[in-house]
Amino acid sequence: MFARDIREFRAGLTDWFLDNGRVLPWRTDAPRDPYSVFVSEVMLQQTQVATVIDYYQRWMERFPDIAALAAAPENDVLHAWQGLGYYSRARNLHAAAQVIVREHNGVFPREMEQIRALPGVGPYTSAAVATFAFDKPLPPVIANILRVSARLPNYRKPTDTAAGSQHIHAVTLQWQPALEEGGAGMFNEALMELGALVCTPRAPRCSACPVRLFCQAESPEELPVKRPRPKTVELEENCAWIIHDGRVLLEQQTGKRARGLWKLPLHLEPGAGIPLATLTYPFTHHRVHLSVFPGTTPLFLAADQQWFALGELDAIPMSAPHRRALKKLLSSPSLFQ
Ligand code: SF4
Repeated sequence: MFARDIREFRAGLTDWFLDNGRVLPWRTDAPRDPYSVFVSEVMLQQTQVATVIDYYQRWMERFPDIAALAAAPENDVLHAWQGLGYYSRARNLHAAAQVIVREHNGVFPREMEQIRALPGVGPYTSAAVATFAFDKPLPPVIANILRVSARLPNYRKPTDTAAGSQHIHAVTLQWQPALEEGGAGMFNEALMELGALVCTPRAPRCSACPVRLFCQAESPEELPVKRPRPKTVELEENCAWIIHDGRVLLEQQTGKRARGLWKLPLHLEPGAGIPLATLTYPFTHHRVHLSVFPGTTPLFLAADQQWFALGELDAIPMSAPHRRALKKLLSSPSLFQ
């Protein structure tokens, strides 16, 4: 696009970042530690920066390096993740640490193919580690970078198609400095920060933008273009509140997303009556209406069910909606009679 001015573009953006970039706990001096990049990037995938800060700091105190994470029991890992959601991310981090210890002598691999081969690592995370920790000219194209990369050249086709995402990736790749030039990590971080602070989704602050002279966006707030969203689907989830001798019955989930987490058992009895607690939570393009009904103490427990004393409940990993429902139930003294 603006090959002549590409160095000026990169320098302007990087200078702006050095003066305006946020101080974040995972933004240490270059080169950044790959484990710290890996943990922070995985946490940031579905979660806001403000929420991640506390989680990241607690995680790094608990699992300060790859060896500590690899050696931790899964229950501890899930518990440290509790509240961030999408628990497969925590399980994959744990499994990746174990692979690094087993196959790379505990040293984070530098090559893209080796990073990509770690459990749960996709194109975004591998590029983020490669560029932020090893200064490789590989753009980690996620929302903030994608938005800037669609607006600068005024790309007005959908970006959430194979062709659209290939185009955006190619555009962003063209802006990278050569490997021997160095500085790709900071440039990509600056691009991402521009999307977070200035080139924001609804009201981009173009008058304060360090690269406005290079920008061709018309009506930037309309970009990037997305395909029409699927309609939200309403789902009902009925669970049971069963308490016996001061212990609550829970069951462990086995599905791909929430495997290992505990939840209130499914309510299978007909004629449910009035729920003791209700709440609604989003799940991909679904809206789930969770209702908890009084249940009957079973004669035999299923293999995935277990009784927990009230004092144990805080220490076990649970999915966030079930934790919220449990808190509601526990705050009602009449339910203990
Ligand atoms: Fe984004 Fe506006 Fe800067 Fe263009 S000028 S990159 S639309 S903030």
